[in-house]
Amino acid sequence: MRRRNRGHPVNGKSMMTIGCHLSVARGFLAMGRDALAIDATTFQFFTRNPRGSKAKAIDPADIAAFLELAAEHRFAPLLAHAPYTLNPCSADPKTREFALETMRDDLARLELLPGNLYNFHPGSHVGQGEAAGIALITAQLNAILTPHQTTTVLLETMAGKGSEVGRSFQELRAILDGVVLRDKMGVCLDTCHVHDAGYDIVDDLDGVLAEFDAVIGLDRLRAVHLNDSLNPRGSRKDRHARIGHGRIGLAAITRIINHPCLRHLPFLLETPNELPGYAAEIALLRGVYQG
Ligand code: FE
Ligand code: FE
Ligand code: ZN
Repeated sequence: MRRRNRGHPVNGKSMMTIGCHLSVARGFLAMGRDALAIDATTFQFFTRNPRGSKAKAIDPADIAAFLELAAEHRFAPLLAHAPYTLNPCSADPKTREFALETMRDDLARLELLPGNLYNFHPGSHVGQGEAAGIALITAQLNAILTPHQTTTVLLETMAGKGSEVGRSFQELRAILDGVVLRDKMGVCLDTCHVHDAGYDIVDDLDGVLAEFDAVIGLDRLRAVHLNDSLNPRGSRKDRHARIGHGRIGLAAITRIINHPCLRHLPFLLETPNELPGYAAEIALLRGVYQG
């Protein structure tokens, strides 16, 4: 399962693993079919309504039908995304408890789709300071990770809006350092977020990846959120733009998807698009991917 995201060689060429964020409203088989229709081999979905707390009841027939489709079409692992409203490092114990119970429930449910990825935002320390935030996030992960889970939990690189934890590679490393079951953990790099956090992925991608490797280790990098950014580098804003329509630009994004350290990873689009827009972006990106 782990190796599936290495890209499938077809006729000696490596295929790009790419997909986008899809609505979970109509179930897994519908997402799988939408993915196929736009030439995607993976997709991202919210585990539940990002604003609410209730997860939809799981339909075993839908899961079984999706798994059959995914096997037939050799889908790469999926990226489940935790509700972005959770704050695992809130100052309020009730808010932390809610994040913990939600993530624990998500991980239990994800075992029905074994071997996938679960991405979450580390949270905002809301004035407690980075060190306190990091300690709370680590404690939460130690409370929910289990030795037999097949899901890899990913920390997302953040833009640094407000008091967001995870805008620097050092902060993510500090979280990982405190996790006991570290082999269950990885990182998802969001191109808009790292750009907004100040990393120069436009003119110094090699340097940024060398820093990632030195601080976290590139072996921990398991997925890329591929987004352009509306704002300049270091703005700490987190406003996604369509590919080629932001401050990162198509030339830099082309270098990102072809970089030897990144090209085997799953790329997930979270650009402001409906399905036809995603189809066009996937076609554009497959066109500039050097198989
Ligand atoms: Fe996210
Ligand atoms: Fe993201
Ligand atoms: Zn974002």
